[in-house]
Amino acid sequence: MPSLKLKAPAKVNYLLDVIRRRPDGYHELRMIMQRVNLCDDITIAVTESSGITVTCGQKGVPDGPGNIAWKAARILLDLSGTGRGAAIEITKNIPVAAGLGGGSSDAATVLMGMNQLLELGLSDQRLMEIGVTLGADVPFFIFKKTALAEGIGEELLPMPEMPKAWILLVNPGLHVSTAWVYRTLQLTNERVLSIFPEFFGTVEDICSMLSNDLESVTIPAFPVIAEIKRRIMHLGAAGAMMSGSGPTVFGVFHSRDQAEIACRDISAGTEWFAAVAETL
Ligand code: ATP
Repeated sequence: MPSLKLKAPAKVNYLLDVIRRRPDGYHELRMIMQRVNLCDDITIAVTESSGITVTCGQKGVPDGPGNIAWKAARILLDLSGTGRGAAIEITKNIPVAAGLGGGSSDAATVLMGMNQLLELGLSDQRLMEIGVTLGADVPFFIFKKTALAEGIGEELLPMPEMPKAWILLVNPGLHVSTAWVYRTLQLTNERVLSIFPEFFGTVEDICSMLSNDLESVTIPAFPVIAEIKRRIMHLGAAGAMMSGSGPTVFGVFHSRDQAEIACRDISAGTEWFAAVAETL
């Protein structure tokens, strides 16, 4: 039974501008997205018998057909026309519903893995077209580069090379509904797009573009997010921002040591999830 063990990385948004609400209810966005090496572990095996099993065993994440990884496997098995199946095991290390893109990354990883196992020979471009039918962030994880993402997040351009940075991720474990955040966001007609540098020589250049329109909704409702940002900055980060629709906050650090000291400090006496990751 051919099988693969793969890593599905998380992402943070260095920048997230909401440009307008489209008539179909989606939002037109402009984002800068960065992968980080906090990863889910995924094992995929192609089986001779038809049917797909997804085992995850994580609270808040469905096993079976409700899992986005199941849907990704279904599409590629149908395209293969072989009548075979798949057994997928996911170990979630990325916090769930946290603004870190974990589900989208799992789906992208299963698309790429099944393409290889089934020897379908689909291009990344084709996999990205399939991916966007599963979720707006899925193509980014197939693109595999720091990206400027437009449209609903699926129109991707590579960003100029950026210096390596250490990212402290802190999730206070609140439930924040992405749909509620977008519904509540007040959009103005005179939208001024955030600016970002053309050249990134230092971690400070990265931090100069940190901006997230969704903080205007999430922070007033969950002030602990602002408190985490303050604490991360106080612990020596060059910048701190909420990722996606939250509630995870990330801090950008120059060195692993600095980030790990901050991680230990922030974890002490709280139930918050905190981890240090490197930019990919
Ligand atoms: P984004 O940053 O793209 O908005 P997120 O990090 O906020 O995503 P996810 O962790 O992807 O959110 O989870 C969103 C929802 O998707 C969860 O409530 C969960 O029930 C469901 N889900 C389905 N499959 C998965 C999966 N493989 N991993 C995580 N969540 C999944």
